[in-house]
Amino acid sequence: MRIMMLKGFLVAALLLGTSLSHAKPLVLSSLKPLTLIAQEIAGTAADVDTLLPESASHHDYPLKVSDYSRLQKADLFVWIGPELESFLQKPVANLPATKILTAYDLPGLFWPDEASVSDDHHHAKDPHLWLDARNAVTVARAITEKLIKLDAPNTDLYRKNLQVFASKMHELDNRLLAQMKPASGVGFAVYHEGFAHFVSHYGLRQLDYITFTPEQKPGAKHMQQLRERLSKDGSCLFLEPYNNLQATRDLAQELHLRIGTLDALGTQSTKTYSQLLEQMATDFLTCLTNVRH
Ligand SMILES: [Zn+2]
Repeated sequence: MRIMMLKGFLVAALLLGTSLSHAKPLVLSSLKPLTLIAQEIAGTAADVDTLLPESASHHDYPLKVSDYSRLQKADLFVWIGPELESFLQKPVANLPATKILTAYDLPGLFWPDEASVSDDHHHAKDPHLWLDARNAVTVARAITEKLIKLDAPNTDLYRKNLQVFASKMHELDNRLLAQMKPASGVGFAVYHEGFAHFVSHYGLRQLDYITFTPEQKPGAKHMQQLRERLSKDGSCLFLEPYNNLQATRDLAQELHLRIGTLDALGTQSTKTYSQLLEQMATDFLTCLTNVRH
């Protein structure tokens, strides 16, 4: 009798094990915008989660022990690459290559037109590549292929979701191209150099940035150059929710610039990738054209 029960228990454990191996694929992404893109493809067939907390810097984040185990548990890890997230380079190197999707390396991405963005000391490509709807589709396509490999029975669903997302993005992109036109000649500076994809694709006139990455404090020489550029042609200065130096507020006041806020990762209320881009368009337009949108 006891042996029978033990057998039954073993069978149950085996069945449970089998059902676990058929569990939904788990996609982990480094940043919220990548999560939003992955969710468009995953639908309810796969789980998607974000590694970094909302307020963490996407340039430098001290990983916790629990973050390492989340990386191990994920079936697929989507990140931009060491050009943006150098703090992830080592942990990612320890994962099997098939589990990793490095967005920065994908073929067919669009990159900002360098001439339109002031750039004195860097000629690297801006890694904030999700701020171009066309790139979001490229990333989504790569996620689709990975999900199909992990979960072949849902191939049709993933492909359909990709199609829907691609046509949504095409429509959104055309709408934003028209919507951003009135702001095209208005000079501004951003807090960190993270918006070049949006600025370049929608023909905006960025004069400068306060700092290249949020972790660096601007030097006196750079602040002088910024002051000159903005006093000549500037109308707006964009801060960020977690980067809000009093010195830059003072500069805006001194030069009579309007202050706006940009969030490259989307705010807490951002629930879809479309909302992220729409919010960015609204934030740019509200400050640049001085009209509520
Ligand atoms: Zn950034």
